[in-house]
Amino acid sequence: MYELIIIGGGPAGMTAAVYAARKKLKALLISKDIGGQVNWTMGIENYMGYQFIEGAELIRKFEEQVKQFPLDIKLGESVPSLSQKDGIFEVRTDKGEAYQSKAVIIASGKRPRQLNVPGEERLKGRGVAYCASCDGPLFSDMKVAVIGGGNSALEAVDDMLKIAEHVYLVSLTPITGDSILIDKVKAASNLTMLLEHEVMEITGDKFVDGIKIKGLNDKAERTLQVSGVFVEIGLIPNSTLAEGVVARNQYSEIVVNCDNETNVPGLFAAGDVTTVPEKQIVVAAGEGAKAALRANHYLQRLR
Ligand SMILES: Cc1cc2nc3c(=O)[nH]c(=O)nc-3n(C[C@H](O)[C@H](O)[C@H](O)COP(=O)(O)OP(=O)(O)OC[C@H]3O[C@@H](n4cnc5c(N)ncnc54)[C@H](O)[C@@H]3O)c2cc1C
Repeated sequence: MYELIIIGGGPAGMTAAVYAARKKLKALLISKDIGGQVNWTMGIENYMGYQFIEGAELIRKFEEQVKQFPLDIKLGESVPSLSQKDGIFEVRTDKGEAYQSKAVIIASGKRPRQLNVPGEERLKGRGVAYCASCDGPLFSDMKVAVIGGGNSALEAVDDMLKIAEHVYLVSLTPITGDSILIDKVKAASNLTMLLEHEVMEITGDKFVDGIKIKGLNDKAERTLQVSGVFVEIGLIPNSTLAEGVVARNQYSEIVVNCDNETNVPGLFAAGDVTTVPEKQIVVAAGEGAKAALRANHYLQRLR
């Protein structure tokens, strides 16, 4: 029986783990990976203490700090579900294990939204990618398409304009990203913007060789010959593990108050998976710290 189980090894979960360990809680951290979305970030310029740090380096530092403490850590394990009975939580993993605790912090973050078109699943990792800053260099001097119209799509376009021979920006809507980003990319000679176009299919045998798109207004269909497709249409919270257990909003974010409490006593949540508005590393880390301190307070009252 643990006092606290933390689900997720991103900035929120790792910071929660350090705070829990410093309070000498008998705690377990379970995560699919270490670092979460920070693994997809090449350079970070807004984490205090570093004017610039690579994502991988920041995660190494977080991990070193977590591993200084005698915490139980289960990596490479996913939590599909959790339940609660008589004030005790049971957290099950995809490895068939079940762990019990008196309190839980869900810090499971977000994952990329998928297009759900034919070819996407089959060609994942074979030209279909979800992180231009991670996989962009693989498409040096090739033609690529970036799908999306928000800030992440524009940032992906900005990255890929420096790497690829040509970039097509395909968006279902007019551009919704910040005008500063639009101004940065729109004059590039190797960019074609195809706004109000829908992606119908991603094609290719072993690797991506094109995408089929359709104009929303003229209904004209066309094929773009590209070797890479970057799907940048937003992120969805990894909250299904708590479906039916905890209150979520219309975006499937776990509803928390300013003490990181959910509607279930003893169940806390922190970081991008929650309703806390700004999704940033420094915010997630701060929320992870708060959640662990509030969980400690909750556990003290049980003793
Ligand atoms: C491309 C990109 C660039 C970014 N750049 C910046 C930047 O420059 N500056 C900045 O401040 N922020 C940036 N962000 C945002 C920042 O990365 C996130 O706000 C931050 O990582 C959120 O931390 P988190 O711990 O809440 O979630 P995540 O980082 O998403 O971590 C969630 C963790 O939970 C694990 N997990 C998920 N589901 C389960 C499950 N069912 N069972 C077990 N484990 C699970 C995951 O494996 C992961 O370890 C960027 C994000 C992206 C995608």
